[in-house]
Amino acid sequence: NETKNVGWNFDNSYTELPKKFYASVNPTPVTSPKLIIFNSSLAKSLGLNDKTLQGLEGIETFAGNRIPEGASPLAQPYAGHQFGHFTMLGDGRAHLLGEQITPDGERYDIQLKGSGETPFSRSGDGRAVLGPMLREYIISEAMHALGIPSSRSLAVVSTGEKVIRETKKPGAILTRVAKSHIRVGTFQYAAQWRSEEELRELADYTINRHYPEVANDENPYLSLFKKVLDRQAKLLAQWQLVGFIHGVMNTDNMTISGESIDYGPCAFMNTYDRETVFSSIDVQGRYAFGNQPRIGEWNLARFAESLLSLFDEDQDKAVEIAQDALGEYPSLFGEYWMDGMRKKLGIFDEKKQDKELIETLLDLMEEYKADYTNTFLALTFDRLEDSPLHGKKEFSDWYKKWQERLEGQKQSKDESKQLMKSNNPAVIPRNHRVEEALSAAERGDLDVMNQLLDVLRDPYAHTSTQAEYSKPPEPSSEPYRTFCG
Ligand code: AMP
Ligand code: MG
Ligand code: MG
Repeated sequence: NETKNVGWNFDNSYTELPKKFYASVNPTPVTSPKLIIFNSSLAKSLGLNDKTLQGLEGIETFAGNRIPEGASPLAQPYAGHQFGHFTMLGDGRAHLLGEQITPDGERYDIQLKGSGETPFSRSGDGRAVLGPMLREYIISEAMHALGIPSSRSLAVVSTGEKVIRETKKPGAILTRVAKSHIRVGTFQYAAQWRSEEELRELADYTINRHYPEVANDENPYLSLFKKVLDRQAKLLAQWQLVGFIHGVMNTDNMTISGESIDYGPCAFMNTYDRETVFSSIDVQGRYAFGNQPRIGEWNLARFAESLLSLFDEDQDKAVEIAQDALGEYPSLFGEYWMDGMRKKLGIFDEKKQDKELIETLLDLMEEYKADYTNTFLALTFDRLEDSPLHGKKEFSDWYKKWQERLEGQKQSKDESKQLMKSNNPAVIPRNHRVEEALSAAERGDLDVMNQLLDVLRDPYAHTSTQAEYSKPPEPSSEPYRTFCG
């Protein structure tokens, strides 16, 4: 039995939810799938045979042409606020094959993205384009390597079929791995269109799957909310600390597990600027870099609203409970962010003046258009000569204060430097590098992407190769723009 060799070990717990939470539907087969990229180490950690999976059976599975034994493909409905507007959504081009139970007993969704139409496709064609799927592969794996909770990417296959967008583009399917695909939007869907009993079943399922430790709390639904609030506050802090811009923080793209998900028009910031927006569709700058923490809070408020009927029978009381819990977000986020920033600056203990020290540095970066990642690297390795901050009086004043702050600690300068090295990435997926890799891949040359992926796998290594990849792009007249794929 071939399937046994591959190591699939599917469970389908999502299908135990009421029927309205999923639609059983198979992927639509494609003509001539080809394996473009495959994640061997992820496959192994899932208990899968990485060699076999790169053969015909694996490729057919990643293409949706073959349903592995034990899988029970489905599409999930959900709702969401897209740029602030509430709407019905769902997996319009994705199929959950099932939940892989790893040898360690962990459960991961195995989802195909770009695998054909579902009952939730609306006017879409159910398909995806090669470039954006490779982009998601690169960025999600980079996020994971940076230590940021994220969906992972197991494989990308090209379909051999063209997809019609502005022009005809090569089609592709990404195999995405995530702790689950339950979103704030899944709860919004339940609260809006399902019964209270069904909402409760979703909440119980989610608690059992992601936060079993709160199941016996006095108010488990409030505990669920607080857990998600904490995870998301931490995640948002992590995004800010590496300069990641998600680009489309709609409530349907925010997970309950606390993993980053749905890498569309996302990108990493080069020059520090709170107003940075890359997405071509975000014309108002709703999801600009500096707005992300607040949007996280806004999305969590929508999550709380969807849980109100479970918080308390008395709805006034429920609102009060929700507001109290939500009120913790700014300080939680602030603590995670300060903690990360202190580490980026080699600071071990906490002092009140740290906030000002950090904010002043960021203001200077913004004023003098300094590269975010490379400023921290320059501070780490004392390589400030090339920085636009070099020679600026305000910066030397800041630098002196920072040095005094470090000297006031019991740890040595060397220990500070070590702390900085493990908290300031030597390399991030720079937009121009990602684009270069995608263009080459579209021409059939996969070397550029594989080299980039190699470098991104070890972002805190600080080798000369990493240094090469940390160079910002040449200044260009056109601002960088990303598009939804
Ligand atoms: P996103 O912007 O990626 O979060 O997607 C928003 C919604 O549009 C989701 O419900 C997707 O499933 C759906 N969608 C995006 N592209 C397509 C497509 N080509 N065909 C069908 N549905 C799509
Ligand atoms: Mg989405
Ligand atoms: Mg998307």
